[in-house]
Amino acid sequence: MALPPDRLERFARHIVLPEIGGAGQALLAQATVVLIGLGGIGSPALQYLAGAGVGTLVLVDDDAVDVSNLQRQTIYRASEPGRSKTELAELWVRAFDPVLNVRRVSQRVTRESAGEVIAGADLVLDGCDNFATRLAVSDACVAARIPLLSAAVGRFQGQVGAFAGHLPDQPCYRCYVGDAFDADDCDTCAEDGMLGAMAGWAGTFAALQAVRVLLAPVGGLGDPQWGKLHLLDGLAPGMRTLAIAKDPGCKACGTA
Ligand SMILES: [Zn+2]
Repeated sequence: MALPPDRLERFARHIVLPEIGGAGQALLAQATVVLIGLGGIGSPALQYLAGAGVGTLVLVDDDAVDVSNLQRQTIYRASEPGRSKTELAELWVRAFDPVLNVRRVSQRVTRESAGEVIAGADLVLDGCDNFATRLAVSDACVAARIPLLSAAVGRFQGQVGAFAGHLPDQPCYRCYVGDAFDADDCDTCAEDGMLGAMAGWAGTFAALQAVRVLLAPVGGLGDPQWGKLHLLDGLAPGMRTLAIAKDPGCKACGTA
């Protein structure tokens, strides 16, 4: 349970915070987070989750780096287009902190594979780029009773929400978006564009909320904010928060 001296030193600025302390840092070291999507949200989220000492990171993406990714996907470099994102992300983590455990899943998550991909996680952070995957991941999280942080970004807008649809009074992601998008890849950023720093804001905010959820068992940063959707506006700029209600008729978490 207690961290060795070199880890206490590495995480000194966390441990001095009463909200984290040695107990919280040890909890982060034991945590497993599944990161769906290693793009504009997943890259900065990975950097701050690894920086926070999250002990096991499961890296999920079926894509290769494209030169147009470099504007916002902060873990990739000019020499790397064409290479596997999960391979490069694993190399990044190993160079950054060799103590952390990494598992790679270099496939697209489907309704069939989602349960296996997220098994054993304390938290799933979904920053992928399509609704079909988001809904498959959300449904699998409800079934496996695993909390989900869902993050999305486009143009100058971002959204980050924490969902625990397996709990009786809490909504899941499907309660929020409904059933219309199961088969659609309708929200890729290629057509609309995106300011790179917006992806950074959404990704790092998702990493903050991930730490909040992971530390909830020891009090940590307080309420995990289930069902709260934070809307990030880069043009105003500002942030609003919506409360999502549980849909009793929800296919995934409803009781009706
Ligand atoms: Zn639901």
